[in-house]
Amino acid sequence: MRVSRITVWQKTLRLAKPYWLSGGRLKFEALDSTFVRIDTDEGPSGWGEACPWGQSYLPAFGGGIRAALEVLAPVLIGRDPRDIDLLNRAMDLALPGHLYAKSPLDMALWDLLGQASGLPLHSLLGGAEGESVAVNSSISTGAPEEMVALIEAARAEGYRTHSAKIGGNDPALDIARIEAIEAARQPGEQVTYDVNRAWSPALAIEVMNAVAARGWFEQPCETLEQCVQVRRRTRQPLMLDECLHGFQDHLDAWRARACEGVKVKPNRLGGLTKARRVRDLGVAVGWRLHIEDVGGTVLADTAALHLALSTPPEHRLASWLCHPHLSEDAAPGQGARNRDGEAVLPKAPGIGVAPDLDWLGAALTTYERPAP
Ligand code: MG
Repeated sequence: MRVSRITVWQKTLRLAKPYWLSGGRLKFEALDSTFVRIDTDEGPSGWGEACPWGQSYLPAFGGGIRAALEVLAPVLIGRDPRDIDLLNRAMDLALPGHLYAKSPLDMALWDLLGQASGLPLHSLLGGAEGESVAVNSSISTGAPEEMVALIEAARAEGYRTHSAKIGGNDPALDIARIEAIEAARQPGEQVTYDVNRAWSPALAIEVMNAVAARGWFEQPCETLEQCVQVRRRTRQPLMLDECLHGFQDHLDAWRARACEGVKVKPNRLGGLTKARRVRDLGVAVGWRLHIEDVGGTVLADTAALHLALSTPPEHRLASWLCHPHLSEDAAPGQGARNRDGEAVLPKAPGIGVAPDLDWLGAALTTYERPAP
């Protein structure tokens, strides 16, 4: 089996409602997503998607993915798509770094490996640990009562775990948000307070020590070193997200005893191949993991949740789904979707999601093997 053609699409995904992060510093209304389809000489095609959450959340953006694909796609043409580690090393040699740009190709290779072997992705990534994956809501930054109302709406959709976005320069406001959410929290519910790097270490230490919340706090400050400073002077479990990119960053976090858990996001880490290595490290060192993608349609969500399903339950926290935040559906009826707080993964070979071609519209570009 050889890669014969790689087709690229760009789609602007509008959010159903504006969304604020990092204490209101960052506002999002639309996401720029890149889709790839890898065709082979033997028939099967694999799908991949890369969708950084806008361009201000991470050092990643849609235009960067499509520019990097000009270098990366030709590396795969003519190669056996099932040689996934080999092809990742070839991409890393051709274009060091630029991890987020490699993730759609890596995802499509996994989709093809699944189809070639007749197995769903979760079987290839370690085997299904249970029947479904718990999913969590994502609560936009706002006034305390607005955030409590958003959690009530999420509760009505079955969510029992919530990621509440806080942060900013006003410790009293953050303390008020946390206390309001804790007062409204129902038995059995979990809340993670995601600061999205908005606090200085001093502010993080002040707020976290002022609240009795039992929940997790996530990415309080910009850098790993600042988060370590917070870790040493607070008691709540810490989750790290935006400051971790390559495998080495995770080793550094572990050596520094910086956190009790990490987010595992294929797009941020460079694809499912590299995300799986971080997942395996996390299991080995005893971390708790939120496994989900940075953003995107039900395609990216489902690919990431296959990795979650194949992770031992004692190591995983709930997974977030991006697609319910979007105003349109790339693949109606397909993939991992919230059903009363749980998502069931497709058992079809590969990812089990193919975007609707009419919805995708005209392709941007196609890379093909030159005629001999
Ligand atoms: Mg986060």
